[in-house]
Amino acid sequence: MVANRELHAGEEIITEMPFVIGPKACTYPLCLSCFTPWPPKPNDKPLCSKCGWPVCGQECENASQHKDYECQVNKILIEELFSKFSQILRKIVIVNLFNK
Ligand SMILES: [Zn+2]
Ligand SMILES: [Zn+2]
Repeated sequence: MVANRELHAGEEIITEMPFVIGPKACTYPLCLSCFTPWPPKPNDKPLCSKCGWPVCGQECENASQHKDYECQVNKILIEELFSKFSQILRKIVIVNLFNK
């Protein structure tokens, strides 16, 4: 890439819309809607009333990105997670049975 004029340090030269957005795999807790660190206040820990994931509050819970997409998937993922967790607990009980 070659500039056709002199550029200043820190000058914005290009902007692009991201192909996809979301939290990193390893990050501090954050609102899934606006990516603000969560909880918003130490004694205020709002969760989405439908999927239970961290959000800033009603506005972020009802934001289209969360309500129409993430929230639907989160509900399915949580059900799968609890199902797998339940299967693991049953296996642990069986292992403990044979260790008696
Ligand atoms: Zn938020
Ligand atoms: Zn939700």
